[in-house]
Amino acid sequence: MSDEARVRAGSEHAGRVGLVQVYTGDGKGKTTAAVGLAVRAAGAGLRVAFVQFVKGGERSSELPMLERLGVRVERPARASTGLLAGGATDEDRRAAAETLAIAQDAIAGGAYDLVVLDEACVAAAYGLVDEVHLLAALRGRPVHVEVVLTGRGATDALLEAADLVTEMRAVRHPFDRGVKARKGIEF
Ligand code: ATP
Ligand code: MG
Repeated sequence: MSDEARVRAGSEHAGRVGLVQVYTGDGKGKTTAAVGLAVRAAGAGLRVAFVQFVKGGERSSELPMLERLGVRVERPARASTGLLAGGATDEDRRAAAETLAIAQDAIAGGAYDLVVLDEACVAAAYGLVDEVHLLAALRGRPVHVEVVLTGRGATDALLEAADLVTEMRAVRHPFDRGVKARKGIEF
């Protein structure tokens, strides 16, 4: 079905057709927005998977809460990424491939109404995953599956594939004046 046909069908059967959303940009709030949507969806009885690319190291505080709400949380990366420290490591690539496989299954399997691919835009922008695989998963998704991709630097092809694009714009951030990431606020 074409995207237009999906949208038309959705207006006739409200809530039955899943779309593609991208939250990108350099401002704070992309992952937070996706977490908020996951909570809302779970509250409505939708089945939710939250699949995180790139992020390793300490688990962010929202993940156990999502699990308590019945959300399936997947986060294969074990170590902190080397992306910012000069380049992707072998572990980054291994984790990204594992995360992609989980994402593909979660989308194609049809067992979830909402699949969040947190930081998938970053993974694609840095070439940790080939965007071709993400695009194919989006195109082939069962009609009821909504997919949300977050992360800075969404590629043109991912933006093109989305029904909804929100760009968070950084107007000011406390990091700029040296305030460190705070538990419960930034992670
Ligand atoms: P959050 O997880 O708080 O919703 P985000 O998903 O929009 O943020 P990312 O690009 O994933 O932001 O950045 C990861 C980390 O960097 C988070 O701890 C986030 O709070 C922080 N951050 C977000 N925007 C900025 C910014 N403009 N300057 C500095 N740090 C930022
Ligand atoms: Mg984020």
